[in-house]
Amino acid sequence: MTTADLAFLLLRGATAILCALAARGALRRARLPGQARQRRWRACLGAVVMLALGVFALEDGVHVALGQPGEPIGWRRWVWVLLDLSIPAQVLAALATLRQRDVLEVELAAAARHDPLTGLPNRTGFTEAASAALAAVARDGRPVTGAMLDIDHFKAINDDWGHAAGDAVLREVATAMRGALRPGDVLARIGGEEFALLLLGVDTDAARPLLERLRAAAAMVPHPGAPERRITLSGGLAPVQGLGLAALESSLRSADGALYAAKASGRNRVMVAG
Ligand code: GH3
Ligand code: MG
Ligand code: MG
Repeated sequence: MTTADLAFLLLRGATAILCALAARGALRRARLPGQARQRRWRACLGAVVMLALGVFALEDGVHVALGQPGEPIGWRRWVWVLLDLSIPAQVLAALATLRQRDVLEVELAAAARHDPLTGLPNRTGFTEAASAALAAVARDGRPVTGAMLDIDHFKAINDDWGHAAGDAVLREVATAMRGALRPGDVLARIGGEEFALLLLGVDTDAARPLLERLRAAAAMVPHPGAPERRITLSGGLAPVQGLGLAALESSLRSADGALYAAKASGRNRVMVAG
């Protein structure tokens, strides 16, 4: 085999390797969780094209370099071989850029559904997670309860100890409540110091002790600057009657009414709607 044959074979081999890498990158993109269907198909098609190009490049290298050893390779052929090599290289570079975009999109989607202070879902995240949970649980006839919770006299914490102390209380109350809940229940921060909760598989009677558990968890959060004082919560409960978003919203409206009643009758308590 001449040096030119060997160089030709190596270039074709390099093209085949880059094609295989590009095909693997495209397949990874196709398998990305949450990837749009159209992008999934495009990525699969790209992987097939890359694989085909790689196989043809390798076959061409073997055919030219080993099939007719010593026969001169014209300059046009060298140009084609180099152009061929540049295709998977460009695809790999484009995939790297797309990967960054994919990661950013996933991060943006998560940020749009979460509250950055507490890490809990926000209102949008709550509606999505609660709708999904509701559809799964209520279908088999199990009861579901909606709840609204609000920290008592929270403004005074901000006023007396500063906004940063208020933020710390919000974070710690959120963590304490999350820790006191069962994994499937959906808790979200839907306003300043207001939380919405979906309790799965329990009616309002069974939900009451769960909310008392949350109040006890919040009471363990240290009060800024006044260790003898306790962080207290008021809460309202209402059954979710139905499967859809309207049933969820109606339950939360009733729970909000019950929360208002709890505030009006002295705070630091849970009340059931109706
Ligand atoms: P109530 O017992 O009736 O619920 O009284 P409250 O003081 O808790 O309620 P109010 O609605 O009067 O005040 C809520 C305060 O929460 C006002 C607002 O400045 C504060 N707040 C809202 N969002 C944030 C936040 O992200 N961080 C902090 N530190 N404070 C916040
Ligand atoms: Mg409040
Ligand atoms: Mg409030």
